[in-house]
Amino acid sequence: MASALSDKLSRLVKEMRGQARITDANVQDMLREVRMALLEADVALPVVRDFVARVKDKALGQEVIGSLNPGQALVGIVHRELVTTMGEGISDINLATQPPAIILMAGLQGAGKTTTTAKLAKHLIEKRKKKVLTVSGDVYRPAAIEQLKTVTKQAGAEWFPSSPDQKPLDIANAAVDYARKQYFDVLLVDTAGRLAIDEAMMKEIRELHAALKPVETLFVVDAMQGQDAVNTAKAFKDALPLTGIVLTKLDGDSRGGAALSVRQITGAPIKFAGVSEKIDGLEVFDAERHAGRILG
Ligand code: GDP
Repeated sequence: MASALSDKLSRLVKEMRGQARITDANVQDMLREVRMALLEADVALPVVRDFVARVKDKALGQEVIGSLNPGQALVGIVHRELVTTMGEGISDINLATQPPAIILMAGLQGAGKTTTTAKLAKHLIEKRKKKVLTVSGDVYRPAAIEQLKTVTKQAGAEWFPSSPDQKPLDIANAAVDYARKQYFDVLLVDTAGRLAIDEAMMKEIRELHAALKPVETLFVVDAMQGQDAVNTAKAFKDALPLTGIVLTKLDGDSRGGAALSVRQITGAPIKFAGVSEKIDGLEVFDAERHAGRILG
């Protein structure tokens, strides 16, 4: 961000100097800066509106008006609101089910689903000591199946073969069967994505979801999509009961607004962040740190 929100607010407060007390109008000016800061961070407009309305309610509740340093008080409110909005929910993967715990990966093509599938496999092996199987249902792109095979190997997990002449549902069922017989703890199901929202893709993933009854349905979204992430998120939320979000390519996005937008639109917790192309480039999402990034 060009100039940090806290700097902008301190400047406003300096301009108010000499006034006996700050007024509602001063708070409105400060809220305008908050709004601008969020828009500059590439948060979607409807999300900004809702967010600023919540901050306004809190700010007008004396906390800011009565404060010795109203600028800082408002930054504090904004920071807390960002952290609660983005940080609510359980961060790690839910595996509380009869094994194999099935995790369905959803998202557009290029969002980072396949990479994230392998990163999660590695995370579950190393941090949760699980036996992990992956399978690709992307029968439209043979290269995607091969890609999953390669990255699964890097992760140290096992890959279940599939091929373009099969139906995604048959592939998934065969993988579940195998996972049961071989006592896998977790089955990660990578799915086909398209470049844009597509009814056929949504129907297919809904059918997969209905058949597999996954314990986690993760929406993988590219943080660099910024405002566009909102439309994608809405479409996936309407199609599937999402249990979590993985925000990828955070390393290439200095603004960070997609996190707030996607969290607010889907209502699902942001569980992980992708921070590099490498297999170990996955972090548990840290709302506190991310709020700092948005505020600048
Ligand atoms: P899919 O089509 O959704 O399966 O997407 P891929 O897993 O093939 O990823 C698309 C591209 O994004 C690849 O070049 C990945 O290396 C890259 N990618 C995925 N996640 C990240 C990330 O967190 N950071 C960076 N820098 N690149 C990523």
